[in-house]
Amino acid sequence: MPTIDAERLLSDLRRFAQFGAYKTGVHRPTYSREDIESRRWLVQQYETAGLQAHIDGVGNVFGTPRSDRRSLLIGSHAESQNYAGWLDGALGVIYGLEIARTFAETLGCAGLLISPVAWADEEGHYVSMLGSRSFVGDIDEAEIDRAVNVNEGLPLRDALRTAGLAGVPRSLVEPERHVGYLEAHIEQGDALEASGNRIGIVTSIVGIWQYSIIFHGIQNHAGTTRMAIRKDAGVAAATLVLAIAKRFPEVAGPCSVWTAGRINLEPGAPSIIPGKAEMVFQFRDSEMPVLERLDALLRELVEETALKTGCRTEIVRTETGKPCNMDPAFQNAIENAAARHAPGAHVRMPSGAGHDAQIVVPRLRSAMLFIPSIGGISHHWTENTDDTDLVLGCQVLADAAETILRDEEENLDSRG
Ligand SMILES: [Zn+2]
Repeated sequence: MPTIDAERLLSDLRRFAQFGAYKTGVHRPTYSREDIESRRWLVQQYETAGLQAHIDGVGNVFGTPRSDRRSLLIGSHAESQNYAGWLDGALGVIYGLEIARTFAETLGCAGLLISPVAWADEEGHYVSMLGSRSFVGDIDEAEIDRAVNVNEGLPLRDALRTAGLAGVPRSLVEPERHVGYLEAHIEQGDALEASGNRIGIVTSIVGIWQYSIIFHGIQNHAGTTRMAIRKDAGVAAATLVLAIAKRFPEVAGPCSVWTAGRINLEPGAPSIIPGKAEMVFQFRDSEMPVLERLDALLRELVEETALKTGCRTEIVRTETGKPCNMDPAFQNAIENAAARHAPGAHVRMPSGAGHDAQIVVPRLRSAMLFIPSIGGISHHWTENTDDTDLVLGCQVLADAAETILRDEEENLDSRG
């Protein structure tokens, strides 16, 4: 089995966190100076590992073995959220680098090849999952033309030009060149920590369904309008949130989550009864039937709320993400590796967060591994994971990669 270099892994994770260092975390938005420097550093590391390296037209960094044989892609995204954690996507990127080096040093001659990858803008500073979407051919030039930075409004084209990527071709997936894709990530929740597990084998990535729900009441004077005749859109929105909290558990799955992330009241003044309430609501689950049950109940509760409060309603579903399953054989490879290195401390689990693997999986067999986030904290500069778990996760992924590549070799042999 390949043995990773734990010291080198930890030191490179810490080196990578110096690009945009902020408190104990990083501030490394996509195409910022620090982000581009970090990607150039990766190119050097990939080349030192004996790979051909290039940055494509949206900033994805690829390390490609100098061989015609098929390789296994391993990586994640290199940029961070604003003023956020040092691990997040960087973890999977440095795992890819370390596993590629380990294989090149010890298994390259056996034809077991790793292609490390660092995707661009999974975090959506411009376009969520831009790099992996570009790789699978799921974004056209017109969408890139239209995209702007969500915080500053800077056009994506300008950012690419400043980064030196204008006119650089975008690399497209060639399914015959890759055996599949593996991605490691911190869990970003506390399920592993709370259950005493150290490795999560991701079974699926949840589907996210999102809604705009509007209540129309009657705007009027907050001092002179009798309570009995009011149609208060704010009360309607609050009533709905409470009804959801009470009734959703009846139809939810064990991992369902739901959030009313935004409620805007109009006109939003202390002495005016709200005439309009607009609520953005989302739920997530890994099972389509559960998503459909939640949808049906939501619509029922919206109707009930309208009747109860006398407000007119509109409900529009604005996002209908399908849950996607990870490759079963790849999951087994990760689970068997976890059983060797962390017996009794691994668990299969869905991912409640979105990841590049959900974009890649329709084109390449894919799977994901999670390691614990201390306190379940992520997208914050205090995000952290124990060094022992950082090392364990990389070793488990390396073992899984070897199994997957050896199975591929056997399949090729048996096909003659
Ligand atoms: Zn991430």
